[in-house]
Amino acid sequence: MGRVPPAFTDGSEQRHRAGRAPGDLALLQSFVNTWDAEGGRDLLDSPAAVGAWLSAHGWTGESEEITPVDQRRTTEFREALRLLLAANNPALFVEEKALARAAAQLTAAARRGRPALRVGAEGRVELGAVDGGVDGALIRLLAIALHAQAEGRWSRIKVCRAQGCRWAFYDRSRGRTATWCAMATCGSRAKMRSYHRRRSVGVGAPLSAALGDPGVAGRPPPPLLPSP
Ligand SMILES: [Zn+2]
Repeated sequence: MGRVPPAFTDGSEQRHRAGRAPGDLALLQSFVNTWDAEGGRDLLDSPAAVGAWLSAHGWTGESEEITPVDQRRTTEFREALRLLLAANNPALFVEEKALARAAAQLTAAARRGRPALRVGAEGRVELGAVDGGVDGALIRLLAIALHAQAEGRWSRIKVCRAQGCRWAFYDRSRGRTATWCAMATCGSRAKMRSYHRRRSVGVGAPLSAALGDPGVAGRPPPPLLPSP
């Protein structure tokens, strides 16, 4: 794995540390979290940045030339993954069409990378890619998703329901019911807003109306944007 991969190391990362996924799934999570909605920052905002991120994982060579098309594909892939993780959050409504579009994008990426099975000396079967470069790296991310799905862990990785957050977190709750990346941040902020609204609309008003949370009121929240 080599060097420590670039990641947000300030408050945004520390704030969400509680929701870190186990094993390889943390790599997929870090990839999705290369976009920080709250800080309006993107670790993959240039071909060079994509190259730095992927080579820090040992997924591409350091001298790998990353084109603007590679960068666009990588960020589109990331947002398609984010949509899948949003669909894992019961508090978020993801339009079927958007989900189908994301699935098609990921399938196209899978074909480009030419997936290949490999059997290690100890007999472990692994999914890798025939090709290296960006396409091969994206296959590795899909292989992590495949592994997590086979192990029944996939439904635990979600994106936060807060519109200004959408951070990928791992839900360790027994019933897999968490919907905020962290109760200490997004969850408590929503509670505070709900408290203030309840006070402004009157104590007798239903919580859902006061919260203005369409999910709570039984209506789906607005669909997720396909990209940040
Ligand atoms: Zn959040």
